[in-house]
Amino acid sequence: MSDLVQVQDLTRVFDVSKPWLNRVIERLPKALLTAVSDVSFNVGERTVYALVGESGSGKSTIGKMVVGLLPPSDGAVEIGGVNLVTEEDAEVIDRARTDIQMIFQDPYASLNPRWKVGDIIEEPVASRGAAPEGLAEKLLVQVGLAAEDAGKFPHEFSGGQRQRICIARALASEPKLIVCDEPTSALDVSVQAQVLNLMSDLKDEFGLTYLFISHDLTVVQHIADKIGVLYLGRLVEEATPDHLFETPKHPYTQMLLAAAPKIDGFGREVEPPQGEIPDPINPPTGCAFHPRCPIAVDRCSQERPAMRDLMGQRVACHLAD
Ligand code: SF4
Ligand code: MG
Repeated sequence: MSDLVQVQDLTRVFDVSKPWLNRVIERLPKALLTAVSDVSFNVGERTVYALVGESGSGKSTIGKMVVGLLPPSDGAVEIGGVNLVTEEDAEVIDRARTDIQMIFQDPYASLNPRWKVGDIIEEPVASRGAAPEGLAEKLLVQVGLAAEDAGKFPHEFSGGQRQRICIARALASEPKLIVCDEPTSALDVSVQAQVLNLMSDLKDEFGLTYLFISHDLTVVQHIADKIGVLYLGRLVEEATPDHLFETPKHPYTQMLLAAAPKIDGFGREVEPPQGEIPDPINPPTGCAFHPRCPIAVDRCSQERPAMRDLMGQRVACHLAD
């Protein structure tokens, strides 16, 4: 199976200085926030790769760089062999862009309230020419709604139904890759599973590849083929869901799994994660996790751990073996 997405040493730095403060205090150094630091991973064609991390871990920033909404500060993203930042052939870029769609967290904000649902779904196709007759109706049925819904407005639908409309709109362009940024986290728990099941079915039916962004490991456990765990903009572990849940090797992954709401074998609630996420403008030296890590040694505060392959599981921790 070949890779559809190749992310290599991806880094994104934001200048978060306050201009007024820099005017008041001369020669104040720039405040730089490294949102994503040296992240590499590949997504195989027709697979689901989940990026998981707490808020501020850089997962949405990676998503935006993958779809080409944000240029990387360093490193590269290739989709089907095309680097959206350096490619110069406009036709190649255009084709690559239609191959990628994005679904966002908030199905309320991402649908124009004044447009009929059918027009919303067909708009990405219509803007590049004519949409085929009955496209919206066909897609609405495929996402579990009714063909007649094409004539209605977004406010006539529930949150879960609106996310189905967003999915139909994404499918209209016949994409290869869909980047899904927390697509179910604004929905009621009872609706989340239905939308996830739908996404899983559509993936098989349309031969799709997903980059699935979530703060919740349990949400991606069943849909993902591979999970990448992010901490402060760095990839700290990557594994199949089975390996990750059965033998988490990075202390942060272990902490995340312990934080997932669950009851241990003795009917007691498991401890929540310890410690605060450090300031990303002044991240800890060495392993960024060392201030929270229960097994840190001296070396951890001095040397950034490299990503290592341990029997098919990739881990960035000095002590992982
Ligand atoms: Fe903990 Fe050190 Fe491993 Fe970082 S490198 S996770 S601080 S043991
Ligand atoms: Mg986010």
